[in-house]
Amino acid sequence: MEPLVDSWGREIRSVRVSVTDKCNFRCRYCMPAEGLEWLPREEVLSFEEIARLVRVLSEMGVDEVRLTGGEPLVRRDLPVLVSFLAEIPGVRDLSLTTNGVLLDRLAAPLVEAGLRRLNVSLDSLSHVRFAEITRRDALDRVLAGLEEAERYPELRPIKVNCVAVKGFTETEVPALVELARRKPYVVRFIEFMPLDADEAWREDDVLSGGEIRAIIEEHHGPLVELPAKASSTARRFRFADGVGEVGFVNPVSEPFCSSCDRIRLTADGQLRTCLFSRREWDLKTPLREGATDEELVDLLRFAVRHKELKHRINDPGFVRASRSMSQIGG
Ligand code: SAM
Repeated sequence: MEPLVDSWGREIRSVRVSVTDKCNFRCRYCMPAEGLEWLPREEVLSFEEIARLVRVLSEMGVDEVRLTGGEPLVRRDLPVLVSFLAEIPGVRDLSLTTNGVLLDRLAAPLVEAGLRRLNVSLDSLSHVRFAEITRRDALDRVLAGLEEAERYPELRPIKVNCVAVKGFTETEVPALVELARRKPYVVRFIEFMPLDADEAWREDDVLSGGEIRAIIEEHHGPLVELPAKASSTARRFRFADGVGEVGFVNPVSEPFCSSCDRIRLTADGQLRTCLFSRREWDLKTPLREGATDEELVDLLRFAVRHKELKHRINDPGFVRASRSMSQIGG
């Protein structure tokens, strides 16, 4: 089948699938303390519905699937969905992004079901600071989850993602860097984006990848850049002594929209062609009204033709996305 290409010539190879909008953390840069109004259960796509959409996408060349949320591990029986997706022949890369708090129990069944890659979010290695940013006292459980994941060589690389917030993350960098050097984890710093439900984001709150790199290089000397895939969101670096790898995802200071190959499916079956989309494409209704695969293909092609050229975070008239990060699926 013809590949899925947008109007700017970018081929779509990757889909991020949100399996729930619910989360058991309340990270300050993402969700308010009281949580958000969750989607009614009947609005959330079933595993069969998700698997069908992924299969149709895979036939158009989408070969990378990342499960996310909300917190994907709070969705009951998630390994069942993983096994459905792992069976789709075109899915080459099946990964999961999680806060890690339920991973100690779920790593084994997820690997068994066919999960091959893992991203764990972790913003601090201090119990007090971890609780401050996530509003949950759960650092030990996340670390236990990571330890458990490490036991499965199938799950590689293990990436640890830290959202970099000015005035908070600077002091966390040394311990996170040590983690990258001590453990088989690639630690990546991600710039804070205006996707927080509280709408508190200000440009001044962004701690850029460049600033973090300078903090690291002060202690470790120059980092050595490693080659990355053209569509990669991260710039990768190793330490001069060869021990450990860190990465920087710099959507604000170094936008990578021109090589974006991603689309997103929300938990309620809406297709988003950009994190910062103001518009969504309803796939749930046609899916539930009996659309054929051909009709879904046409819809997907039409939506992707309207994929945004770029996010406009740095433009004066920037208008926020129509939903916040946890509702979209980060
Ligand atoms: N709950 C899972 C987790 O913690 O990884 C998956 C969903 S979470 C929304 C996905 C990622 O988005 C996490 O790494 C989280 O830290 C990040 N994130 C949330 N809000 C963000 C923001 N405003 N800017 C940048 N990253 C953000």
